[in-house]
Amino acid sequence: MRQKDIEYFKKILTNQLKELLIHAGDAVSGMTTPKENLPDPADRATIDTERNLMLLIRDRERQLAVKISKALLRIENGTFGICDKCEEGIAFKRLEARPVTTLCIDCKTKEETYENARRV
Ligand SMILES: [Zn+2]
Repeated sequence: MRQKDIEYFKKILTNQLKELLIHAGDAVSGMTTPKENLPDPADRATIDTERNLMLLIRDRERQLAVKISKALLRIENGTFGICDKCEEGIAFKRLEARPVTTLCIDCKTKEETYENARRV
């Protein structure tokens, strides 16, 4: 991969990570609303649901943040854009759509086919 492309993806990934961290901060401050002040149990239930939803989102964001960090690490050690399985280069378009990917489209398709087969 050319240096220019590496820089391009590094920028995308760094921005994504920054946005995630900002959102994570919002979620945390939203969670500090004291529910004890609400006398109606129905209101409390709503807040609990929202809280669960927020935790779920945060969990997903955290997983994505880990993936982005790993992608940035691959950029640092020069393995970014190389398939984990077959060690071929991953198509630029695929990386553009999903910069955190570690598999080329062939290996990803094979993996999904395998997983679907196991699920049946
Ligand atoms: Zn591959």
